Amino acid sequence: MKNEEEEERSVHEVLLLVLPYLHSLFELLSMNRVSRLLKNAIRDETALWTNVVIEPLLSSRLTDEILSEIASKSAGKLKTLILRQCLRVTDKGLRRVVDSNPLITKMIVPGCLELTPEGIIGCVESLTKNNHKLETLHINGVYGFTKHHIAALLNYLPDVGAIDVEVCPKCDEVRMVPACSRRSCKESKERKCRGCRFCVSRCVECLVCLGSDTEVQEAACGGDVLCLECWLVLPKCRFCNKPYCTSHSGLRQEIEDTDDAARPMFECQACYYRAGTNPYDAFDYQI
Ligand SMILES: [Zn+2]
Ligand SMILES: [Zn+2]
Ligand SMILES: [Zn+2]
Ligand SMILES: [Zn+2]
Ligand SMILES: [Zn+2]
Repeated sequence: MKNEEEEERSVHEVLLLVLPYLHSLFELLSMNRVSRLLKNAIRDETALWTNVVIEPLLSSRLTDEILSEIASKSAGKLKTLILRQCLRVTDKGLRRVVDSNPLITKMIVPGCLELTPEGIIGCVESLTKNNHKLETLHINGVYGFTKHHIAALLNYLPDVGAIDVEVCPKCDEVRMVPACSRRSCKESKERKCRGCRFCVSRCVECLVCLGSDTEVQEAACGGDVLCLECWLVLPKCRFCNKPYCTSHSGLRQEIEDTDDAARPMFECQACYYRAGTNPYDAFDYQI
């Protein structure tokens, strides 16, 4: 019969095997429910907690208190802190984690609307003093950043690409300025097409700039545009022939086909609702 100690050891071995593949807190928490042994193993494994990743679904539940509790498990060794769209985390909550985890090298907090530029700059200042090395900061979607804030941040994070947003050279607003994938743009020193998405129209797939001399194709996602090359290869709605970009591909209404050999087909949301192919409201269209 297996004794408890043996069992505990095997749990640990399994855990160490799956550790590198566990990225989000959600996965960890669901494992937590598995068994008491596993729960204890997770609690004792501080290496697990060097990366804290909180993504939507869980984001809305994260308060300053819960964040502080989760971060405390790393025993001051937290390296990566990723909080996406955590609307309840405040400057104070973030600062508390930063102050007890000076080794953080990546602070990724896009769309955390309660955070302020001042709060974030304070954290960055703290994470770069005494030779501590913050390398990456993502703040896209946090309100209120001006070019003065960005200038202050660049004092602490001077490396190109360390911060995800910058001052758009065209509109002077703080926004993401993607690198153009067009070869002639990459090679030219002027980089005339540098600009945020409001100033320069770009293919959402390959980020190539779409000037007046290029053929621009509309995607089904509404607002997104594509270059001809990307448009050609993406699967298209069987009615309007518009494709979804990769990041919106979840919006496809797949059409069930009894013929296995047939190519998978889909309808875009607009065509799906307009045509009433939804079996649940098909009757509404019979007069
Ligand atoms: Zn701009
Ligand atoms: Zn493209
Ligand atoms: Zn370009
Ligand atoms: Zn369509
Ligand atoms: Zn799209």
